[in-house]
Amino acid sequence: MFATILDEPGKDIALVDHLLSRLAPFGLRCPLLLQFERDWHEEMTRANLKALYGIEQAPSGTRLRERLDALDPACLQPLYKALFAQLQRGKGLEGFDYLDGHYLLSLDGTGYFSSKTVHCAQCAQKHHRDGTTTYYHQMLGAVLVHPEHKEIFPLAPEPILKPDGAQKNDCERNAAKRLLTDLRRAHPHLKLIVVEDGLASNAPHIRHLQALDFKFILGAKQSDHKALFDWVDASEQTALTTLSDRRGYRHRFRYLNAAPLNDANFDLEVNFLEYWEHAPDGTVTHFAWVTDIPIDNDNLMTLMRGARARWKIENETFNTLKNQGYHFEHNFGHGHQHLTTVLMHLMMLAFLIDQIQQRCCRLFQAAWTAAGSKARLWRKLRSRFELCLIPDWETPHRSIIAPQQIALGYDTS
Ligand SMILES: [Zn+2]
Repeated sequence: MFATILDEPGKDIALVDHLLSRLAPFGLRCPLLLQFERDWHEEMTRANLKALYGIEQAPSGTRLRERLDALDPACLQPLYKALFAQLQRGKGLEGFDYLDGHYLLSLDGTGYFSSKTVHCAQCAQKHHRDGTTTYYHQMLGAVLVHPEHKEIFPLAPEPILKPDGAQKNDCERNAAKRLLTDLRRAHPHLKLIVVEDGLASNAPHIRHLQALDFKFILGAKQSDHKALFDWVDASEQTALTTLSDRRGYRHRFRYLNAAPLNDANFDLEVNFLEYWEHAPDGTVTHFAWVTDIPIDNDNLMTLMRGARARWKIENETFNTLKNQGYHFEHNFGHGHQHLTTVLMHLMMLAFLIDQIQQRCCRLFQAAWTAAGSKARLWRKLRSRFELCLIPDWETPHRSIIAPQQIALGYDTS
């Protein structure tokens, strides 16, 4: 699939081999990249890389970094769409729609590199009072989520570009504009409800969502939306409802349809939903959102749970990438131009491939169950990769499911 990216003629090692040579250690969660690079000169490692990843020739670590540093990260975007098509073909999205045939898409920003010393031309900079500088890269992530499903499916993320004296929020908003426009171009008919935090509930962003035919549920803070909250307070149509569940939680709602977003955008009507969760221990959690989905007594819980699934992008995407073996945020070589961003994409793509396997592949599910945890599954896969000649992906998975039945290791003489 990576071969769909055009390679320049006349290069002895194909671009696709460079990309796969970096995707492979991310896919196998190798903690030590340099060690992995040293191993791929060994005959068995080379054979395994070819059998599992289709790598014809692995470049040296130095050449790999130079080549990926010069690569325009935008050319990796079609890979997300190609993987998304595989997810659809594998019926991975069946039952993943949330409301009226729409999927929930959570958008949020995160950092993927930060250093006080290492930097490149693309780094954003923060100057501290003590005279030091922090160099960093951030991106806006876009992930399909569902409150009842473990899996999450990233679509193409968008780097947040270096601020040129602009406000941080402007940069994130501009990244959102590019991301949503590209997303609509890549998926013209995909029905989506975009869920975002309170930074997003501004008129230009809402009009942009509407123009691209996205539905939305966006956080709304009282401090940012005083006129809207006043309007809801004053309206006779504002409805109040309280529901209880079996766990002893009380869910208190207040809502009003067709309220003006603010005085400056009086023509822009939104539906307002406010929510208090009363836990059995007395804790009260409060949220408020604006949405273009008409609110009634029957969809209060659905809207609330959809809006709160937004957190999955932080908890289950970014935190997994940072803490569970992907080593997102670590410095694998920063480069001078694009290396950090290209590596971020490869890590995100490796994560997406895992999520698709987890959702669609019975063999992967059985091996995961047999291993007991993801960490143990990756360790077992890595140990087979290092010690045995592996003909295909099925063999190591089967050997994890039933270790006594499959003898790994092949006579190569
Ligand atoms: Zn940089």
